Amino acid sequence: MGWLMNRDPKTFHVKSFGCQMNMYDGARMTELLEAQGMTAAVDGVEADLVVLNTCHIREKAAEKVYSDIGRLKREDGSRPMIAVAGCVAQAEGAEIPRRAPSVDIVVGPQAYHRLPDLLNEAKTGKRALDTDMPIESKFGALPARRKQAPSAFLTVQEGCDKFCTYCVVPYTRGAEVSRDWTAIVDEAKALIDGGAREITLLGQNVNAWEGEDDKGRHQGFDGLIRALDALPGLARIRYTTSHPNDMTEGLIQAHGDVEKLMPYLHLPVQSGNDRILKAMNRSHTTRSYLAILDRVRAVRPDIALSGDFIVGFPGETEAEFEDTLKLVSAVNYAQAYSFKYSPRPGTPAADMENQVAAEVMDERLQRLQALINVGQLAFNQATVGKHTQVLLERQGKKPGQLIGKSPWLQSIHLETVAKIGEIVDVEILSAGPNSLAGAELMEKAA
Ligand code: SAM
Ligand code: SF4
Repeated sequence: MGWLMNRDPKTFHVKSFGCQMNMYDGARMTELLEAQGMTAAVDGVEADLVVLNTCHIREKAAEKVYSDIGRLKREDGSRPMIAVAGCVAQAEGAEIPRRAPSVDIVVGPQAYHRLPDLLNEAKTGKRALDTDMPIESKFGALPARRKQAPSAFLTVQEGCDKFCTYCVVPYTRGAEVSRDWTAIVDEAKALIDGGAREITLLGQNVNAWEGEDDKGRHQGFDGLIRALDALPGLARIRYTTSHPNDMTEGLIQAHGDVEKLMPYLHLPVQSGNDRILKAMNRSHTTRSYLAILDRVRAVRPDIALSGDFIVGFPGETEAEFEDTLKLVSAVNYAQAYSFKYSPRPGTPAADMENQVAAEVMDERLQRLQALINVGQLAFNQATVGKHTQVLLERQGKKPGQLIGKSPWLQSIHLETVAKIGEIVDVEILSAGPNSLAGAELMEKAA
């Protein structure tokens, strides 16, 4: 209020929070604004337009957005145009400009292809809002993909019909929708032409993807992976996040015989206790989850496993939490993400009795994370001495040092004269919990 603002923005900055799908959406919004002739600014301080691409998955998400908006005011009293996008925009809608009148645009995750129209509306001084979930695909309205980093994201599936009782995603991202086969394959080709060597397929439940191929045959997610495997120039395929219920036999088999599919599986379980899983509406048990991991390991023995965990779901007892610790020890995760349960407004679990006290959740999270860290270090150390391949992704801090990823998604630092985007043969020399050092194997490269 009372902030001075330039109503003809030439530069912009997209700030994305949260999951990889938001990173992908942020990249697409950047391409969309560039296609309008605008220029990306390095950070939000000088940009004429700032897009806050928000996440609603955890505690105080909306409060954080309001304080981020406040911070955009500059010392001289001016401010950029402000657009709030992402899941907080979807959940809060018109409440955002009511509470933060300096916001010019509110756009939900299924409507951001309309950003240029909304921007034109906002330029005339109106407040522009679009939180519709249109049936027609936003993807078709977005410009073609541009130059890429060696590792690129590609969203193939959006939304979720699973309604886990703690989760806001089915409300903010809408129903489960699979993108069209040809659109995905074309986007993958454009990414490869732009320099991508690795593509990570994204979706809230990416392995629920299904559709018809270019010959009209019904295909599951494994069929899509096999089609991408056939694309020349692509070296690596990954996917995230997958749901245990959609781990089909075909997909498990693909881990055994599709060479480009990297030996890494992020398969969230959330809890190691069946009563809690039922209360979460997860529709899998610890036993069925472990059976899937056994089948994947049978076809791909070197697979690195990862998962998500929630501690302190309403009613979780100490013994039920300890079941989670037991599961973590039994699986030997290469890495895992763990969160304190956060009541999300409008979800069934938020109204459940027996909410767990904050200090109990803190203590459980610490114990779980300590155990996960031990496993992560052990996994990394077990790869020391191995010869593997590293996709070089970015510059390291030291001169001549590059950082890349192993097939198991480990960050490997090495000195090399090879270039970003190349895949080099490496021996792993040493390992910490989060990064490893390697040496290039010269005899192979010669
Ligand atoms: N669809 C994936 C699945 O079901 O496994 C996960 C997608 S979700 C956006 C990412 C992770 O956020 C979940 O796996 C869960 O661990 C965590 N999460 C979701 N809602 C949460 C909540 N209310 N409190 C704490 N963590 C939550
Ligand atoms: Fe949320 Fe994943 Fe459950 Fe869907 S399956 S409701 S995205 S946690």
